[in-house]
Amino acid sequence: AKALGRNNYSFYNQKLHQEAIVKHKLELELNCAIDNNLLCLHYQPIVALDSGKIKSYEALLRWPDSDNGFRNTEEFIEVAEESSLILKIGDWVFKQACLQLEIWSEQGINDRHIAINTSANQFNSDDFTELILKYVRKSPFLAQKLTFELTERKPLAISSKTVKRLLVLSELGFKFSVDDFGIGHSSISYLRAFPMDSIKIDKSIIQNILTSNEDLALCTAIIALGKALSLDVIAEGVETEEIANLLNSLACPYAQGYLYAKPMPL
Ligand code: C2E
Ligand code: CA
Ligand code: CA
Ligand code: CA
Repeated sequence: AKALGRNNYSFYNQKLHQEAIVKHKLELELNCAIDNNLLCLHYQPIVALDSGKIKSYEALLRWPDSDNGFRNTEEFIEVAEESSLILKIGDWVFKQACLQLEIWSEQGINDRHIAINTSANQFNSDDFTELILKYVRKSPFLAQKLTFELTERKPLAISSKTVKRLLVLSELGFKFSVDDFGIGHSSISYLRAFPMDSIKIDKSIIQNILTSNEDLALCTAIIALGKALSLDVIAEGVETEEIANLLNSLACPYAQGYLYAKPMPL
């Protein structure tokens, strides 16, 4: 039994070691992809459920692979979040979104809004706030046109210093949204720490509202919470007419999902 235990242990150790190598390789490749400008953004509209009018476009990061497809975003973001790479990615996404807003503005298109995904720990970094402030000093209109969707895969405390920073940015006009509401780690504590503008109900809840009483109850309660706190509520992952109709009857104001459009290149 002892020998077996030892074997198991060494097997486990080896497996961890292999995973570490795979992760490290992914980090190097990702770093290289950013430096060579190989990443791109796809955009997916967020629409008002009653009128169909577009509220905003969510920018979703894409990393093309060698056979015309894309690497799995969720997977590489998770790896990036374990290192400082996520900060580098975050800066790139922010700059890219600003560049797009500048292009639209030069073309006389002024009614478009972009939502970008930001890991909560980006806002713990001085550099990211400074980058944002540098951009608004140059182009003040950007502040009216950007929402930061906040999420994190691990529990993370936002310090009072970070809250102050978020307040400065929100006074400039930037909007903040709690992503993955209902399944994220800090959903409710975000709402208590800081005046948010919107919450996004995660697709894992939305996709079950026709079949699960629990998820329907959660969804209904989150919509009520949003209303009570004057937050815009966005249902994510809406794929069918039935779900859209049910959300509409629950007075959910906004939706996003394949029913309206897939994320796509500009
Ligand atoms: P998320 O922010 O919750 O984004 C929603 C995900 O659902 C996206 O996956 C989107 O493509 C997908 N989706 C949209 N509509 C539907 C639908 O109707 N049905 C289904 N089944 N899926 C739908 P994606 O693009 O693979 O992104 C995965 C996650 O990666 C995002 O989840 C977000 O947390 C993260 N992410 C994406 N881009 C960025 C980024 O630029 N920065 C950071 N930090 N994270 C990002
Ligand atoms: Ca998001
Ligand atoms: Ca998310
Ligand atoms: Ca989500």
